Amino acid sequence: MLSNLKQQPADKILQLVQMYRDDPRSDKIDLGVGVYKNAEGVTPVMRAIKAAEKQLWETETTKSYTGLAGEPAYQDAMISLVLSSSVARENVAAAATPGGTGAVRQALELIQMASPDATIWISNPTWPNHPSIIKYLGMKMREYRYFDNDSRGVDFEGMLADLAQIPAGDVVLLHGCCHNPTGANLTNAQWAEVIAVLQETGAIPFIDIAYQGFGDGLEEDAAGLRMVASEMPQTLIAASCSKNFGIYRERTGILMVVTQDASLRDVTQGNLAFLNRQNYSFPPDHGARLVTMILDDKALRADWSAELEEVRLGMLALREQLAKELQKLAGSDRFAFLAQHRGMFSRLGATPEQVETLRRDHGIYMVGDSRLNIAGLNKNSVPILAKAIIDVGI
Ligand code: PMP
Repeated sequence: MLSNLKQQPADKILQLVQMYRDDPRSDKIDLGVGVYKNAEGVTPVMRAIKAAEKQLWETETTKSYTGLAGEPAYQDAMISLVLSSSVARENVAAAATPGGTGAVRQALELIQMASPDATIWISNPTWPNHPSIIKYLGMKMREYRYFDNDSRGVDFEGMLADLAQIPAGDVVLLHGCCHNPTGANLTNAQWAEVIAVLQETGAIPFIDIAYQGFGDGLEEDAAGLRMVASEMPQTLIAASCSKNFGIYRERTGILMVVTQDASLRDVTQGNLAFLNRQNYSFPPDHGARLVTMILDDKALRADWSAELEEVRLGMLALREQLAKELQKLAGSDRFAFLAQHRGMFSRLGATPEQVETLRRDHGIYMVGDSRLNIAGLNKNSVPILAKAIIDVGI
C-alpha cells in the first residue's frame, strides 16, 4: 500500500526556515515564515494568555469533551469580536475548528456538501494553502485579478471586472484584512463596490480573516467583513486566533456562517457539527478557552488589546522606517507602498533572481514571490534591508 504513495512537494516556506537555520552568517535576517516576532526576534506568549492560563490551571476541574461545535461561550465571544453587532446572533451558525486552516477546510467541505459544482474563486495571488486545500478536495477553482505588480496596490479595476463575470452560486474567497501575501487591502469604499457586484451576480462571499488587529485596528480590520455579512444573503467566515492572540500551536479558529434567512441557521449549525464529527470529532479546547476568558473579562481583554495594539503599531513603525529609508536611497517614492500596506506581509515585487541574490549575497531570507515579513525586522535591520534592496536593483 505505502509503495503507492508519491512524494509530496516540500513546503517552500519550511524549506526556507531550514536554509536560514543552516546559514552560519551571524547577520542573517529572516523575513520568511509568517509568525510575529518582536524586536528581539522572539514570538512571545501574550501577557493576557499567560494570565488566563494561570487562572485556568487553578480553576479548571475537568478535561471532559466540549460540544461538537466547541463551547457556546467561545462561539459567542468570537462572533462578537469578528462581527460585532453587524448581524443578529440568531443568524449565525458557528463551529470551533483547529486554527484558521481548519475553518477554511470545514468551510470548503460545507460548500462541497451544499453545492458540489460550485467553483471557488481565489485572489491572484493568495495564501498557498487556499489552492492547495481546494485542489485536494477536488473542487473547481479559478482566480480573480487582485494585485497590481506596477503599483504594488490592489488592481481594483481588474478585480471588479473579474468578479462581475462570476456566475451565481460560485464562491468568492476574500481576505478580510492584511492580505497574505501582498499586504495590499481594499478600502471600505472598495468593499462596498465588491458587495454591489456580488449582489448583482449572486456569487457567495467566503472571507478568511487571520490577522484582525494587525492592520488598522480590531474594529477597522473587520469593517469590510461586517458590511459583507450584513448585506449579503449568505456569508462564510473563517477566523483564526493564531496571530492576534499569539497562540499558533494551540490551533484555535472558528468557522461562522451568516444567513439572513434565520430558518437556514439550524440546518447549517447541524451540518457544521456533523463536519467536525467526521473530521476530528471535538475541536481543540485549550486555546479557545483562553480566548473566551480574555474576551469575557474586562481587565484581561483590556490588557490583550493593549498588547495587540503595541504589536500593530510596532509593525507600522517598521513599515514607515523602511519606506523612508528606501526613499532616501532610491531618491524616489517608488517604495511608498510599503508604508501603505497593512499586516505582517508586503510583496516587494522583486524577481525570483533578486530574491535569490538577497539570500546569497546579503543573508536576507524572504519567500520566493518576494513576500517579506515586516515583523522579522527591527530598527537596526531596516537600513541593512533597504541598502540590500537597492544593491540588488529592485
Ligand atoms: N488564512 C490566512 C490567509 C493565513 O495567512 C493564515 C495563517 N498563516 C491562516 C488562514 C490560518 O492560520 P492558522 O491555521 O495557523 O490559524
